[in-house]
Amino acid sequence: MVIQGFNMSSFDQLNLSSAMVKNLKRLGYETPTPVQSASIPPILSGQDVIAMAKTGSGKTAAFGIGLIEQLNVRHFAVQGLVLCPTRELADQVAKALRELARGRQNIKVVTLCGGVGIGPQIGSLSHGAHLVVGTPGRVQDHLRKGTLVLDHLRALVLDEADRMLDMGFQDSIDDIIAKLPETRQTLLFSATWPGSIRSLSHSYQHNPIDIRVTDDEPAPDIEQTFYEIQPGQQADTLAAILSERQPASCLAFCSTRQQCDELAATLSHRGFSAAALHGDLDQKERDAVLVRFSNQSVTVLVATDVAARGLDIKSLPLVVNVEPARDSEIHTHRVGRTGRAGEQGQAITLCTPAQGHRVSRLEKKYESALSWGNIETLLTVADQPVRPPMRTLCVAGGRKDKVRPGDLLGALTGEAGIPGDAVGKIDLSDYQCFVAVKAELAGKALQRLEAGRIKGRKFRVRMV
Ligand code: AMP
Repeated sequence: MVIQGFNMSSFDQLNLSSAMVKNLKRLGYETPTPVQSASIPPILSGQDVIAMAKTGSGKTAAFGIGLIEQLNVRHFAVQGLVLCPTRELADQVAKALRELARGRQNIKVVTLCGGVGIGPQIGSLSHGAHLVVGTPGRVQDHLRKGTLVLDHLRALVLDEADRMLDMGFQDSIDDIIAKLPETRQTLLFSATWPGSIRSLSHSYQHNPIDIRVTDDEPAPDIEQTFYEIQPGQQADTLAAILSERQPASCLAFCSTRQQCDELAATLSHRGFSAAALHGDLDQKERDAVLVRFSNQSVTVLVATDVAARGLDIKSLPLVVNVEPARDSEIHTHRVGRTGRAGEQGQAITLCTPAQGHRVSRLEKKYESALSWGNIETLLTVADQPVRPPMRTLCVAGGRKDKVRPGDLLGALTGEAGIPGDAVGKIDLSDYQCFVAVKAELAGKALQRLEAGRIKGRKFRVRMV
């Protein structure tokens, strides 16, 4: 069965517990998104679901509500497992599940991802967990060690399944599923619909309800401009675009890691605030880059497609394709990162003569002429780096030290005398915390935090 997109006017119509409805109101969710209206009823009735749903469609809450509503809290066993392609996505999903679970007491969600020590994860699992969110490789490690037991699993979610297959996780997924109870429910979410996804569904799902939400939402307001450049003009052109448009944030896509590093280094050298994001960074470096970009202390993030995948930035004013994407679907996906949430977005694509065929394909797809800018005029713009509004401080204490965001906010606004509205995003992880502070007050905040205490204790603090 294929359900096309439709809307239900309220969560009350979905047969949810009153605690859940209340919690959704608290989260500010007034009406279900189309993917939620279509998938929550079959999920609650225990059916398998395959849904074509992108980031931003509300898919996490769709399966999250389903998992939490069906949970038996008194049964201390892993009842739901969510597999995600990247650690960033797994962290986001776990965070969303915890928020959704707030209406019910004592639901424990554990994240199992690679790139961090396995010891603390074993510790967390030994205290029991209801829901596990993880990346396939690390989940496999725990199954092998016997530190994760899935004998009582009720539901498996494959989130961004297409991306997991792209990243080579097919064998790991097969191996994990072989260890799960036959009677489980399997929910599969994917942004695209290639043959490999259909065969994954065929192998592991029973009579799945097939949900494809049509895009009847108004097309986001994105202004696209193309520039024909000569090979080697990428950095100059990007610098001119930034100087001319002065965006608060900009995501620039490159195809190789080397190109990301070189471009970010050139821009930094010319005074722009830029960082590279790609698969060669270790988790620590990656986390620091992501945090600084999302809290607006870095203006330009130069990234590969895969690395940019987990980025959850609500409003991104400018996307630049340093070269055109190889296929039009990737182009659409890149460009769709700007202009979200009803805001106007700008997308600029640079293209050398040799890459012209990629752009011709786009033109065919859009069935209309593309808008080309004048490169000679653009290149006369002198460098005028955008000043990022925030700076990031890193405090060497986290959740495991019982530090909470409120403690940091308290230490900054209380003892350190920083006004509350000068403090931006606070990203707390197990062992450290990143705090964004308005650039002009960051030095003062650093001094005061170094001299003072947080929750009565001293922590190391540094400017990132
Ligand atoms: P996702 O597609 O799961 O990545 O979710 C996209 C964003 O939409 C997240 O920030 C959610 O918190 C938010 N969201 C999900 N469902 C709703 C809803 N029914 N109403 C408003 N916001 C929602």
